[in-house]
Amino acid sequence: MKIHSWWRLPAACIVLPALLAAGEGKWTPRQVLELNEAELHKQGLQIPVARMWNAEKGTGLLAATVNIGGCSAGFVSPNGLILTNHHCLFGLVQEHSRPDRDLITKGFLARTPEEELPGKTTRVTVPRKFTDVTKAVEAAVPPAADDMARNRAIDAKQKALVSECEKRPGARCRVAAFDGGLQYVLIESFELSDVRLVYAPPRAIGEFGGEVDNWMWPRHTGDFSMARAYLNGKPYHPEFYFPISTGGVKPGDFVMVLGYPGRTMRSLTANEMGDMRDFYFKLRAEVYGEWIRILEEASKGNAAGTIAVASTLKSLNNVAKNAQGQLAGLRRGQIIEKQTAADQRVMAWAGKRPEFAAAVAAKKELDQLAAQKRTTAVRDFLLQSISNGPLALRHATQLVRLAEERTRPDMERDVDYMDRELPRLRDRMERDQKSFFAPADQALLSSWFARMKATGQSPVAEFPAVDALYASTRVTDAAERLKMFTETAEQLKARRDPMLDLAFALDPALRALQQGTRKNEGAVARLRPAWRRAVIAEAGKPVAPDANSTLRVSFAHVKGYVPRDAVTYGPQTTLAGMLEKHTGEEPFAVPPAVLDAAARVDPKKVPLNFLADADTTGGNSGSPTVNGRGELVGLNFDRVWENVANDFGYNPEVARNVNVDIRFFLWLLKDVEKADGLLAELAAAKPHAATAKPAAAKAAGAAH
Ligand code: ASP
Repeated sequence: MKIHSWWRLPAACIVLPALLAAGEGKWTPRQVLELNEAELHKQGLQIPVARMWNAEKGTGLLAATVNIGGCSAGFVSPNGLILTNHHCLFGLVQEHSRPDRDLITKGFLARTPEEELPGKTTRVTVPRKFTDVTKAVEAAVPPAADDMARNRAIDAKQKALVSECEKRPGARCRVAAFDGGLQYVLIESFELSDVRLVYAPPRAIGEFGGEVDNWMWPRHTGDFSMARAYLNGKPYHPEFYFPISTGGVKPGDFVMVLGYPGRTMRSLTANEMGDMRDFYFKLRAEVYGEWIRILEEASKGNAAGTIAVASTLKSLNNVAKNAQGQLAGLRRGQIIEKQTAADQRVMAWAGKRPEFAAAVAAKKELDQLAAQKRTTAVRDFLLQSISNGPLALRHATQLVRLAEERTRPDMERDVDYMDRELPRLRDRMERDQKSFFAPADQALLSSWFARMKATGQSPVAEFPAVDALYASTRVTDAAERLKMFTETAEQLKARRDPMLDLAFALDPALRALQQGTRKNEGAVARLRPAWRRAVIAEAGKPVAPDANSTLRVSFAHVKGYVPRDAVTYGPQTTLAGMLEKHTGEEPFAVPPAVLDAAARVDPKKVPLNFLADADTTGGNSGSPTVNGRGELVGLNFDRVWENVANDFGYNPEVARNVNVDIRFFLWLLKDVEKADGLLAELAAAKPHAATAKPAAAKAAGAAH
């Protein structure tokens, strides 16, 4: 029997019962084109599916959906205006903040293009082309390859495809693996590296409710910011953008969330999920929880320190609370127990079918691999956490690795140190100075040392005294660090810099971890596809692949939910709710200008946030939420607490994403900011001809 992954089946074979029942599925552009169009129109889509994406030309609504530093965003004007979340551009706001010009607190509005603020490391990629390269990647693996050789062959093929693809001017390419190698897709995007801040509300609006409300409903957060992309010093003119709808949404309305969901774990076996819980989310909650306390403590009462740690603190807070939500959701939804039962069902099903013998063997081996990783899991987590931890150690390990990798031919280097990456790595190293605050960094490193020692598996027997390290290292000096960026390993060693020496001492362990990860990935590339084919065949319905930071579409409806017995949540909040929460104390302090403007309107008539049952995850932040005509009605920015663990499985009862209502953004720009120029620019943005025309008239009266 020939086994297909469902997304390679001809469109005629595909039915959509699951999709109709709920919003489950982060569909790839290709899947969207293969879904049953009549059903989508019945749900509420009012434009032909072909207008969402033309795979040949790389045009359509999806071309207006861009990636901005791991977040999602949408073009909203023909002059390169981009709308995304406040938390996605927070780093750019922090980059330009100083104690005497605190843009984080006050917000920022460029009244003319000259006032827009450039971002050192902010880049935007616009999707252009998706090509299935599965056959080419599989063919690159020699028949007798062991797992390491398999990984090397796949890696080499991916690099070759990317390098060929990036010969086109401005192209930024990657090969994305779907579900561990069930499919490989070469993705070509167009990169814009001149991105400037246009508007950010005060933090008290962009982050209203702070960590108390984060991942919660009811919500009243103005989580939006605006940037403009430039090309050759002039505003970039995207071919596609989302016109803003002033009509709003109401319960039951059809919406689509378009964006770049980062990572989900639904294709894992129950055992692998258990390890994610025990050695990833539990550790994230614990370690990052401690780091948050350290950063808060170290920067308390210091204005410059507070600004410096703001961005790191914000992301650690977000990640730590997410980890708690994952743990709570796994427990509450009995997700791993349900997955165990599902795995057993597929094993029994596959066990009766000789053509799926490979799936049975693959599942067993996947579980064995997971068990092997457990023995060093805590230590490995700590080694990996260097990339989120003390900047001095992060930079030192990167400099050491860079010096070593640079001695190899470009195509044989670790992907993060290939020539194409070096300018952005250098930019980050320079820009990071804005986030460096020595007392905080020092305290983080002490914590890291203590935790590493406690594992009993530390790669370094005796760590140096932290005070002495910071007193004599030059890695924390931006200019010196950039000099180190071009130095050889010998030159770095000759400096006798204790932070660099520590990085040299840690390097073998970091490399060994990476080699182990690669071998594991080689094994997973061999095993996961076989297992997933059985899972998909047993399901007998379309299954969207796990999120992998590639462009996806989720079809949904505006909807409330029942979080607990006897409690029902409506799907829409308004300015009235924000005023009710206002205490004057952070994070519930509505700025005076907003209070003034609110006094002149009926706050119940200013919609603020709304819920839908879209299938989203981290990375979907800033995703354009559009109506059936492709007009922007909101921006996705979060999920509800009960839905954080949807990364492991979609539950239609609680699967709700949180969107900021675009009508609040418009109200704020008009009544509070008096940003008439920007509003005029947005109002003038008419839909592109290729996406404007509604589909057949009968589709317009969509049934819900
Ligand atoms: N708040 C998330 C993010 O930062 C979105 C989500 O996880 O639902 O990407």
